[in-house]
Amino acid sequence: MTRRRVIARFHGKHDHSRCLQQALARAYDTCAQKGLRLTQLRRQVLALVWGSHTPVRAYDILEGLRDKGHRPGPPTAYRALEFLQDAGLVHRIESLNAYVGCGDPIPSHTGQFFICDHCDSVAEIHDLSVEHDLDRNAERLGFHADHHTVEIHGICAHCQTSS
Ligand SMILES: [Zn+2]
Ligand SMILES: [Zn+2]
Ligand SMILES: [Zn+2]
Repeated sequence: MTRRRVIARFHGKHDHSRCLQQALARAYDTCAQKGLRLTQLRRQVLALVWGSHTPVRAYDILEGLRDKGHRPGPPTAYRALEFLQDAGLVHRIESLNAYVGCGDPIPSHTGQFFICDHCDSVAEIHDLSVEHDLDRNAERLGFHADHHTVEIHGICAHCQTSS
């Protein structure tokens, strides 16, 4: 595995339908590889998360499902989100309590995100050295870490040039 990967860049204006198609195709592959079932509901929730590159809240996903004529109870939608998270297909942005799709779910990884506070877009990287440094520091403190997510807020390059 490479030590440092850019999983998602900041996009600016682009044809997002292609991102969505790619994400769904990748989700099928990922589920096939992991022996998981991508049910219709899970696929629809994933498509809603992938509606853009900005994090989506669970509430908005419920609304989106209703717009498509579904009326799942919140627990059903949450379970679908949990499934997608466990499969590595979406990540939770803790500081926003919202979800983004992962552009490259295999190999599984913890989230390292740059979040633009102007346009709400999220870029994702996976840097093993950051992960190792955090683990080493946890060890030094005698702390057992069970998960970590790195979230850095700021302004993306597109918003810097447009303002
Ligand atoms: Zn896109
Ligand atoms: Zn990811
Ligand atoms: Zn921005």
